[in-house]
Amino acid sequence: MHAARFLWNKWFKVCLLEKEWDAFTQASYINQARVHNWYHYPRSFSTALKTKEYFNRFINDFGFAINQNFTKIYAIAEKWSKTNSIEFELFCEKLGIPCKEIDKNMFFKKWIDKAYETLEYAFDAIKIRDFMKEEINRRSNIDSFYHYEVDHIKKESDWIVISSSNNDRKFKAKNIINATYEWINKINLLFWAPKIDIKYELAEMVLCNVSKNIRNYWLTIMDWEFFSIMPFWLGWKFSLSSVKHTPHEDCHKDVPNFQKNKNSYWIPETNFPKMLEQTKDFLNDDIEIKYDKSLFTTKVVLSSTENDDARPTFIKKYDLENDCSLITIFSGKINTIYEIEDFFLNNN
Ligand SMILES: Cc1cc2nc3c(=O)[nH]c(=O)nc-3n(C[C@H](O)[C@H](O)[C@H](O)COP(=O)(O)OP(=O)(O)OC[C@H]3O[C@@H](n4cnc5c(N)ncnc54)[C@H](O)[C@@H]3O)c2cc1C
Repeated sequence: MHAARFLWNKWFKVCLLEKEWDAFTQASYINQARVHNWYHYPRSFSTALKTKEYFNRFINDFGFAINQNFTKIYAIAEKWSKTNSIEFELFCEKLGIPCKEIDKNMFFKKWIDKAYETLEYAFDAIKIRDFMKEEINRRSNIDSFYHYEVDHIKKESDWIVISSSNNDRKFKAKNIINATYEWINKINLLFWAPKIDIKYELAEMVLCNVSKNIRNYWLTIMDWEFFSIMPFWLGWKFSLSSVKHTPHEDCHKDVPNFQKNKNSYWIPETNFPKMLEQTKDFLNDDIEIKYDKSLFTTKVVLSSTENDDARPTFIKKYDLENDCSLITIFSGKINTIYEIEDFFLNNN
């Protein structure tokens, strides 16, 4: 949607095709809702720099959908963490981001070395969706079609013709943008473009209610198989995710194909009990987490980033015949949407 808006400003005629009934039903809705500000990526300086660069701009542009009221706690475990507290403090100091040590006993009963108050925010995906839809609707040269699953393309004289087996409408275009996240390879392969080396994870975000004593906080233990409790819908609910238990299954095929197929009516059994057990190992006994429901989605990780945990934006243009092109955009984070601007300005 940001690409459509940006290209419209550059006088392009744009058409948005979305297979679901609405925008923001997939990864952009089912995620931790964290507006990243460096902390999460001490092992990938490049992702940290990118998220920092766009942090303030995103807060300005989407201020109406940002929750700034929570106190954000990052904690470092005594053992198993890939980053220790000295490294975390040095990292924050080097990058000039706030990190104030707090009394870890406020939240954690054991296994935590140090805990810090930091500066990060949460976003409300639905508010962002509604705003972006309005932005799109008021631009006369952008059309949007929902329930339109692109599954066929054909070359016709100087154009690419796009069609769908669930809709009679056809579209012809010179330039196609593939921003389909978990289905990115499916669309690339339709165009005979190379597939991207990707690992898919069937991911579970648990929505929960938390006891009063942590209702104004969010808690993240980094940097390994730990967990986060974050505000969702600006804090009406909380999300619980665990690096160990959120992924149910990995898939290394060209397109996601899980045994616990999230698109069928059979929804995988929740990992909440395991997540809860994990939180109980660390958190004070008076902190309560009550299950509400689970949201399942596919998380996409570029295979090249599995070791340093980076979440870059991948943008690549493939030239097709007759001056046509396919531009594939894989977005690693929400607040790095602005990266496409440099790409379009340098590749017109
Ligand atoms: C579990 C999890 C936690 C995350 N946590 C965070 C976080 O805290 N902060 C953060 O910044 N980022 C986070 N991310 C990453 C972030 O969610 C993604 O980078 C971002 O949402 C990707 O946006 P997108 O528009 O590319 O993908 P999506 O929002 O998935 O949009 C792709 C769209 O393409 C549509 N589509 C697919 N195939 C077709 C087709 N053939 N025809 C038509 N339409 C099609 C889909 O229906 C979908 O609407 C997280 C991701 C996951 C999975």
